[in-house]
Amino acid sequence: MITSQGFGKICKFSDLTPLRQTKDNVNGSKLSYLLGTNCTLRTQTSLSAFTSYRVGGEAEWYVSPRDLESLQASIDYAQENDLRITVLGAGSNLLVSDRGIPGLVIATRHLRSKHFNPATGQLTVSAGETIPALAWDAAALGWEGLEWAVGIPGTVGGAVVMNAGAHNSCVANMLVSAQVLSPDGTLATLTPEELGYTYRSSLLQGGKQIVTQATFQLQPGADPLAVTARTKEHKKHRLSTQPYSYPSCGSVFRNPKPYTAGWLIEQTGLKGYQLGGAQVAQLHANFIVNRGGAKANDIFSLIRHIQHEVQERWSIWLEPEVKMLGEFSPIV
Ligand SMILES: Cc1cc2nc3c(=O)[nH]c(=O)nc-3n(C[C@H](O)[C@H](O)[C@H](O)COP(=O)(O)OP(=O)(O)OC[C@H]3O[C@@H](n4cnc5c(N)ncnc54)[C@H](O)[C@@H]3O)c2cc1C
Repeated sequence: MITSQGFGKICKFSDLTPLRQTKDNVNGSKLSYLLGTNCTLRTQTSLSAFTSYRVGGEAEWYVSPRDLESLQASIDYAQENDLRITVLGAGSNLLVSDRGIPGLVIATRHLRSKHFNPATGQLTVSAGETIPALAWDAAALGWEGLEWAVGIPGTVGGAVVMNAGAHNSCVANMLVSAQVLSPDGTLATLTPEELGYTYRSSLLQGGKQIVTQATFQLQPGADPLAVTARTKEHKKHRLSTQPYSYPSCGSVFRNPKPYTAGWLIEQTGLKGYQLGGAQVAQLHANFIVNRGGAKANDIFSLIRHIQHEVQERWSIWLEPEVKMLGEFSPIV
């Protein structure tokens, strides 16, 4: 039922189970809340502001719960109304179709809390906390272990699901456990072994469970200035080697060992190649950037074009790392 690529039936408000409704004090419009919660249910919500590509259509239904009860109420609501669920973190590894996403989009961005435990050196955080903010917080405390992650603009939930990584480190190496919520309301605490981690992948990508919280092992007791300096170094390196000034999703393709996707794309002569507003970045060929006004379909079409060109030249089919949601119609 929970999916990252779902299609359910299209519903109107009147088809759905009753909601509590009030008037918005600001503009007088009607607000609908999931029963028993203060969580608003919105309809036809544009997702372009919630993805790092800054493209994509609307969520048919959209909630952004602030606590576990509201999250569970969101799942219950989707089940009662036969709506597919799509989970959205910071949207930094997503390409959402221009036609939008049917069903209920659950955004985790408001699931917030963090606790640094000096006795254990463990950091326990809710799914919606952002990775760069945690890296800076840890550095300011003199806790080592997250310096590598400062350039990854996702949430904790997305990082756990994707096994996010950089500079030879990744989530799998430092995760103690992840708390996940199943559609039946069961909360389970899973170890990295149970999550079946491989390169940029985990069993959670099957889409059955929602990550609610994670605990990471860090090393407290270092000099905050030194950890902050290293974190800054990582950020600086990122800014000089990757195109952070245009909207993107980071690396588009997985690296097909022993090659890197960026090298293959560059050798195929595709750096700077542009379709609509989508361009293969000059600075890093495994990035597709939105040069302004790109449609999701431009990006999708460019992904297909790269795959075909690289296949023709190297007999290698590049597998996307970016998750594509909804329907696309490639123009090439
Ligand atoms: C400029 C830039 C640089 C990047 N650099 C790196 C890098 O160095 N290394 C790297 O690994 N990645 C990198 N990325 C990609 C991206 O930031 C990571 O994949 C990140 O972990 C995605 O987190 P998110 O919260 O944005 O997840 P989203 O993009 O919102 O979602 C990704 C997937 O996880 C699922 N998901 C999200 N949250 C949850 C949850 N709580 N429970 C269950 N499922 C969930 C979604 O359904 C989706 O399938 C980069 C992206 C950008 C834009």
